[in-house]
Amino acid sequence: MIVKSICPFCGVGCGIDLEVEGGKIVRVLPDKTHVVSKGHLCGKGSVAFKSLYAEDRVLYPLKREGEKFVRISWKEAIEEIYIKLNDIIKKYGPFSVGFYGGCQNTLEEVYSFMKLARALGTNNVDSCARVCHDPSAIALKEMLGVGASSTSVVQIPKAKVLVIAGESITESHPVISQYIVELKRKGGKLIVIDPRLTGIAKIADLYLQISPSTDIYLFNAVANYLISNGLIDENFIKQRTEGFEDYKRVVSKYSIEDAEKITGIPREKIIEFAKLISQKPVIFSWGLGLTQSSGVNGVRALVNLALLTGNVGIEGGGLIVYRGQANVQGSGDLVKPNVFPNGKMDELHALQLKEVWGFKPPIQPGKTVTEALYGSNLKAIFLMNFNPAKSFPNRKVVEKFLSSLDLLVVIDSFMTETAKFAHYILPAAMWAEKEGSVTSLDRLVKWRFKAVNPPGEARPELEIIADLARKFGFNFSSDPKEVFNELKEVSIYSNLNFGEMTDYSLPSRYPQNDEVLYREKFLTEDGKAHFRPVEQPKLSKGMILITGREVTHYNTDELIVRSGFPEIPLEVFINPEDATRLGIKEGDEVEISSKCGSAKARVRLSRDIMRGVAFAYMHNTEINYVVCNDLDEESKTPKFKYIVINIRK
Ligand code: SF4
Repeated sequence: MIVKSICPFCGVGCGIDLEVEGGKIVRVLPDKTHVVSKGHLCGKGSVAFKSLYAEDRVLYPLKREGEKFVRISWKEAIEEIYIKLNDIIKKYGPFSVGFYGGCQNTLEEVYSFMKLARALGTNNVDSCARVCHDPSAIALKEMLGVGASSTSVVQIPKAKVLVIAGESITESHPVISQYIVELKRKGGKLIVIDPRLTGIAKIADLYLQISPSTDIYLFNAVANYLISNGLIDENFIKQRTEGFEDYKRVVSKYSIEDAEKITGIPREKIIEFAKLISQKPVIFSWGLGLTQSSGVNGVRALVNLALLTGNVGIEGGGLIVYRGQANVQGSGDLVKPNVFPNGKMDELHALQLKEVWGFKPPIQPGKTVTEALYGSNLKAIFLMNFNPAKSFPNRKVVEKFLSSLDLLVVIDSFMTETAKFAHYILPAAMWAEKEGSVTSLDRLVKWRFKAVNPPGEARPELEIIADLARKFGFNFSSDPKEVFNELKEVSIYSNLNFGEMTDYSLPSRYPQNDEVLYREKFLTEDGKAHFRPVEQPKLSKGMILITGREVTHYNTDELIVRSGFPEIPLEVFINPEDATRLGIKEGDEVEISSKCGSAKARVRLSRDIMRGVAFAYMHNTEINYVVCNDLDEESKTPKFKYIVINIRK
């Protein structure tokens, strides 16, 4: 039997065929009909099912007793959690509780989890989108109207130029490479901006090796050059945008000469970049290299360039955000501590939600997950398929906080590093053991079908959430289709059609089923796009650590190591000239330290890394003892790509 599904790893959301024999998945094949992946699959996708059969699946509800966990029944677990949570809410109020979810959860799961939090009276809800692309969502929403990619990866071959900033496509989103190959075959130009000569940078027509976190200076200087040389789209700016004069005034201070000194990119390359993007159509795309260093303002600076050149809302032009997880786009769309799924957090929207939910949510903004974990006074936290003890920076602080809670409930399939701190662990069904929808990085929403039953007493999250809600007197559906129909009523997903979502050969994008958004008007209140002038902040001095991905690994590697791939060692890649200066050589064991902590790593020398920069793969999460919890002021996203470090033998 073949069951259709969507790969559980990255945000490309490739279609897969699960071959099921005797109630077990035995093979994953690429779905040849899928509208984006078109029969392609990377190494991660092809072993996606293996972790379902890992030996250490959590099979029963577990309760902490001292240093051990003991098996309890579902009835006992729900009853005890209810009593403890009720006591905490009575004693400290509902805002002492937080509900935070990972981004492998389906739309229906994140929606119900968020709704449960609000039913209990708290807006402390968030997802792991906070630590990756929330800066993109914030900037895109305010400037264009929707916090998501404005175009699809399918449009890449139609572009004359593709700009990729801070993203290693061949490692992070391999299946998109097919579109870049097609772009190049058709004569399109590829520009890559990255401190590291990545695989994709090696095939670029123009590679800009940039000093970490100097993107704003580069983009503003390019804007000034374009304006000064009449290389802008005046009609587009006049008819479809607001705020150009302010923007022009701000960028007029940014010169190509200073950009060369600050970014480390030769002047002539900056000018070539400016000239290339003055054409049409151009797609501007970016990854975590931008958001986890320059934050919301970094994204604003790049989107400003797309507006300046009139490259939004046109065939072959626009903006693509390379999202890291299968449903990270959807999680961010539905769950935020300061916004309701139906819009602003205010009385009007709360009353609209009451019509559907039967209760009115509070309108006081809650805490982001980063605010909660770094120094809040929350007393109880529910984490659903979320592993911050491993994935968050400054791990020591996170570990201390998790162990200080009065109640930590972890809903997960494995005994993760985070689950080890829990008072209760509730075993969850994995992606192929239930149904539900996920949103890919280019707004495509697809339905996953159930292939096999969960093992032991593991249950779909919707059932667990509905049980908890029932104890508090709320009637939540645990049927994924019913929940999907409900979330459509109160969110940006209202246009979706179930028939299109379940047929992988058809497009099914939100908020309009079109690869290209904003063809006629922007989805802001006034229908215009808005320039947002931003300034380059002052930077710290010293060696800068950046982190990134490796193609056969994935995030904290919880699924990958359970799929048969070996663990990745902790290595730090540095330029040979830095190594000579520091008196270290290839293979040496060194200590990397920051103001937050330290870790031991093996040195690898590479001329692909610019001088003054060190690189480590994110998958060996020992590095998160070194990465600091310095947060972007606006989005509260940690700066995983800008950590001042020392390296010594
Ligand atoms: S590119 Fe991403 S979605 Fe596609 S198979 Fe690989 S990991 Fe899965």
